[in-house]
Amino acid sequence: MAAAAAQRARRLPWLAAAAPHGDQHSQTSAPWRRRPYPYLLLAVQCLSTEASPTEGAPAPSSSLSPSKPPRVVIIGSGPAAHTAAIYLGRAQLQPTMYEGFMAGGMAAGGQLTTTQDIENYPGFTHGIDGGLLMEQMRAQSERFGTTIVSETIARVDLRQRPFRLWREGQEHDDGAYEEADALIVATGATAKRLHLPGEERLWQKGISACAVCDGALPLFRNQPLLVVGGGDSAAEEALFLTKYASRVYVAVRRDVLRASKIMAQRLQRHPKVEILWQTQPVEAVGDALLDGVVLRSTASSTTEDRVLPVRGLFYAIGHRPNTALFKETGLTLDKDGYVVNEPGTTYTNIPGLFVAGDVADKRYRQAITAAGTGCQAALDCEHFLMETAG
Ligand SMILES: Cc1cc2nc3c(=O)[nH]c(=O)nc-3n(C[C@H](O)[C@H](O)[C@H](O)COP(=O)(O)OP(=O)(O)OC[C@H]3O[C@@H](n4cnc5c(N)ncnc54)[C@H](O)[C@@H]3O)c2cc1C
Repeated sequence: MAAAAAQRARRLPWLAAAAPHGDQHSQTSAPWRRRPYPYLLLAVQCLSTEASPTEGAPAPSSSLSPSKPPRVVIIGSGPAAHTAAIYLGRAQLQPTMYEGFMAGGMAAGGQLTTTQDIENYPGFTHGIDGGLLMEQMRAQSERFGTTIVSETIARVDLRQRPFRLWREGQEHDDGAYEEADALIVATGATAKRLHLPGEERLWQKGISACAVCDGALPLFRNQPLLVVGGGDSAAEEALFLTKYASRVYVAVRRDVLRASKIMAQRLQRHPKVEILWQTQPVEAVGDALLDGVVLRSTASSTTEDRVLPVRGLFYAIGHRPNTALFKETGLTLDKDGYVVNEPGTTYTNIPGLFVAGDVADKRYRQAITAAGTGCQAALDCEHFLMETAG
């Protein structure tokens, strides 16, 4: 019996593997829980056909060929993409991941490759280097059968399934596409930076684009810090930093804050906060670590630049979602360019296309939330493929 099951599992790898997944996830409160779990049924049908062919149980549809899994493609390579890959790989769906080759100026592995101390990703008591964490995620994706291609996707055609994808360099050759029965978009976002003189050298040595991520590091404790920006994010980040800093300066280009009234009031009333109106940073200074930031008035060209001694410079000037690829493809983006998903799921307006991570998240923007939605996207995708097969 066990030998027969093992033999069936070898012959029907991805379908057989789906069954325990179905069991496991039918405990969730997702809307599809109300229906019998389709791939569990398909697996059972298929296995029973194998066991007793004379009973005439229906064979699986040809589009759900057990020997030829559907082609699932993931675009991106951050925590969202790799979590999706691990789940899909374990479900025997053998995804292909386009991890990008400096896509949007970002190395494969995503935003975490630009930081050293990840202290808030569970499982690492003493924190972990961002690059190392992403290397481990990549190895885990490969371990479960993901094919990783170090290329950027430069063009997509989402008008029908299978979707068509073109690699960078081949986007003008109409015939040079690859196909995907389902697609997970996890292309992330890029925190905007000012690229000041001194910034490259002192990046992550006092300069960051994520106060929530880095603010609690020992480097910034009881130190004067500078936040750049005047919107809600800047106000939130500055208020967050007041927990650790001795003083928080906020450099605002204009003479008003763009932040909502309530956030602006909170910021202005905080005893540790000082707002530097009509001020912009023009240079980061320091040797091994940031020592100060050169500030310039935006109101008067005769006012001399001055150095503000701070140990931290935090950019809070917005993010750019990596969605240029999807403009005018039919995928719904919001006014800021983020992919719009069905609330509580990773479904988008295009059946078969799922979204995960910062590319659809302008609120949380954390590795753990990106990984969480990567898991959701894989489960939604798996379910979609089972439901639409045959
Ligand atoms: C300096 C800094 C420090 C941070 N520190 C922390 C921290 O301590 N803890 C924490 O939880 N979070 C931290 N974050 C936030 C965290 O990095 C992000 O929330 C997380 O990486 C988002 O993951 P993602 O999978 O959505 O995509 P990303 O990490 O943004 O990765 C997306 C990847 O997709 C690739 N890509 C884009 N377009 C294409 C394409 N067309 N084809 C192929 N590939 C493509 C990109 O090159 C990129 O490599 C930090 C962020 C920054 C900037």
